[in-house]
Amino acid sequence: MININKERVLNEFIEVVKVNSYTRQEREMADLLLGKLKDMGLDPYEDRAHDEFGGNAGNIVVKLEGRKDKTPLLFCAHMDRVAPGENISPVIKEEKIYSDGTTVLGSDDAAGIVAILEALKCIQERNIEHGDLDFVFTAGEEEGLLGSKNLDFKKLKASYCYVLDAGGPVGTIVNQAPGQYEILITVKGLAAHAGSDVEKGINAIMVVSDAVSSLKWGRIDKSTTSNLGVIQGGRATNIVCDLVELKGEVRSLDMNKLDLHSRRIGEHFKSITRKWGAQLDFQKIHLYSPFQLEENEQIIRLAQKAALETGVEPLAKSSGGGSDANVFNARGIPAVNLGIGTEKAHTREEYIGIPDLLHLAELVLNIIKLS
Ligand SMILES: [Zn+2]
Repeated sequence: MININKERVLNEFIEVVKVNSYTRQEREMADLLLGKLKDMGLDPYEDRAHDEFGGNAGNIVVKLEGRKDKTPLLFCAHMDRVAPGENISPVIKEEKIYSDGTTVLGSDDAAGIVAILEALKCIQERNIEHGDLDFVFTAGEEEGLLGSKNLDFKKLKASYCYVLDAGGPVGTIVNQAPGQYEILITVKGLAAHAGSDVEKGINAIMVVSDAVSSLKWGRIDKSTTSNLGVIQGGRATNIVCDLVELKGEVRSLDMNKLDLHSRRIGEHFKSITRKWGAQLDFQKIHLYSPFQLEENEQIIRLAQKAALETGVEPLAKSSGGGSDANVFNARGIPAVNLGIGTEKAHTREEYIGIPDLLHLAELVLNIIKLS
């Protein structure tokens, strides 16, 4: 049982959420963190990841040398937040923190940031034994894991990575998450007058409707889903429609199935458009790869033990979405995503319990102590 300084955590949380920090606009947050880390006597650095994605701040990394007989660990939280997330005015009601209803709260991912900062302070104040530790505050997470994808992994030596960014109560350990392809489809038909020349046209709406309706969508198998989310096309009722654009996605816990099903969609559209004499442009864009870690692996056992020590229920589970943990796993550092206690993330109703904030900081410390 570690007594976390409630007053300090709460004040820091409020300070962090009040700082504006959108994707690609994390400068203010990055400067705040650099200042706080330097004030602790640490030596943080900022990388140039944002050169790759057009932001105004890179990832912030700080390293702590420690005992070599302990497992080297990495903790990660992201600096950016979704809109509307500017000029946040937090409101405390019955041990919970909300926004004033006009913005998100930004506990996604201020909770993760604050837990790391508090853990660092406790390590210093109480001389807590630790191994080599890396802490990474990523930029650009919310729009495609941009910061982590452009991290310099050569500088990171951790055996395991704990990302502090999952939904669900503190104690949640996301040990599997799907990979995702974005699918962009353009079908080009042939325009013609819808009355006099209708036979000369090739209606892209008909082609797309044929292709879409003759393929399975939604739940493909236990680990794979597909979805079409956007359809656009057509100009007027008196013109045979010559262009339809579709946007969709495929997710799977299994990289082979992800590849296979995305390819299947492409081949299916190819054969249908050929049948109609239309033209196809099909693109699949790799957003991130899936990961699956077994529950008996050391990275999870360590988190489970630390959760029990913290007094929260450890629960390993699968997630439907991607996070920086997908990138760390793909780059060879086994990573799980830990629940931060945030509820209704990405909405104006987002809130977090003050006990969750304290538990999260304590969980990070316990993982470090038990490593
Ligand atoms: Zn997040």
